[in-house]
Amino acid sequence: MQTIDKFNFAGQKAFVRVDFNVPLDERFNITDDTRIRAAIPTLKKILADGGSVIISSHLGRPKGVEGKYSLRHILPRISELLGVEVDFAGDCLGQEAVDKAAALKPGQALLLENLRFYAAEEGKPRGLADDAGEEEKAAAKKAEKVRQKEMAEQLASYATVYVNDAFGTAHRAHASTALIADYFDADHKLFGYLMQNEIDAVERVLSNTVRPFTAIMGGSKVSSKIEIIENLLTRVDNLIIAGGMTYTFAKALGGKIGKSIVENDKLDLALSLIQRAKDHHVNLVLAIDAKAADSFSNDARTQIVPVDRIPDGWEGLDIGPATAKKFAEVIEASKTILWNGPTGVFEFDNFAAGSASVGAAIVRATEKGAYSLVGGGDSVACVNKFGIAGKMSYVSTGGGALLEFIEGKKLPGIQAIRGY
Ligand code: AMP
Repeated sequence: MQTIDKFNFAGQKAFVRVDFNVPLDERFNITDDTRIRAAIPTLKKILADGGSVIISSHLGRPKGVEGKYSLRHILPRISELLGVEVDFAGDCLGQEAVDKAAALKPGQALLLENLRFYAAEEGKPRGLADDAGEEEKAAAKKAEKVRQKEMAEQLASYATVYVNDAFGTAHRAHASTALIADYFDADHKLFGYLMQNEIDAVERVLSNTVRPFTAIMGGSKVSSKIEIIENLLTRVDNLIIAGGMTYTFAKALGGKIGKSIVENDKLDLALSLIQRAKDHHVNLVLAIDAKAADSFSNDARTQIVPVDRIPDGWEGLDIGPATAKKFAEVIEASKTILWNGPTGVFEFDNFAAGSASVGAAIVRATEKGAYSLVGGGDSVACVNKFGIAGKMSYVSTGGGALLEFIEGKKLPGIQAIRGY
């Protein structure tokens, strides 16, 4: 397999799929350019080698051509960060794109308009009438799949090499993230630096694990984390359960949880996860105390109570100090750490202490040589809030993609390049 480090892009035209789905304010200013910055090393390497780049991305969830989702809004920032004037094609499939891609010279860069202006990118028909019959729906789906292949083929025709650096969409089998790879031979398709780093980070944690391996699973619901927990149960030494999930486990074990968040239809599942942890000799670490509140608000009255004796009318919004200490001991004795999801409602400053203490314990473990991977939506917001992102070994840029990867699923964007 080709790698970006070894590949010499001199004289090559690279079609680079990036994830520049950045947040914009109402005047189309970029409010966070992390995703653009993350792909710059790949783009710079190609240009420095003497290649040219065709940059492609989606932005938002357009239903068709919608000006507010135009990549034109982010063109100046890309040029600025890349240090070259990037040209723009106002339609990723039109004649303008074909001509501009053909005219690219070494060291030049072209940005294509939003790929998702075409339904074919996702391969899902749009605008079907609500009352469309099953046959009509099936025919529309089939037609869109054909268009998806055609789109992939046309995008591929612009370039001599395909580079995927869009980890955020690696779990989607889209024209530009997966199907396009079929039009390049094994020596002319590769991962960009960001994608490679993400894959390396997950494989370091899940496959080349240095033990003890501790996973900290937080967040609001068991239901959204079941598959990850199940995949981790056969791999970890310690599994810390935190966040809103705590109370489903506490109730399943016979505790009183007041009005804490709970999934009553997952009580049996919680008990079976506890049993499976025992079967696999996994140390399942549950909270022992909670910081309970009399309302879901930062200014609520609070008290520290045992996690199985939360008074009626009160709800656990964070772990208590005894739990924070217990979690920290396990984390600090670990050599590999995966953190997904806060221990409480960290958005409220008065209920952020538990998440902050987990973050601090991970920092200490990392300083002692542990490898720490943080990822999946809110955990990234968490480490940013506490200013400790730079002290983690790796902070993933992928939300859904990372979670599916940890669940053990094959990601189409990865499979399309390396075959597995
Ligand atoms: P998730 O997206 O599943 O990782 O969940 C993250 C969300 O869970 C955050 O917005 C937290 O505020 C929320 N959360 C964490 N702990 C609790 C809790 N004890 N009660 C209610 N929400 C919680």
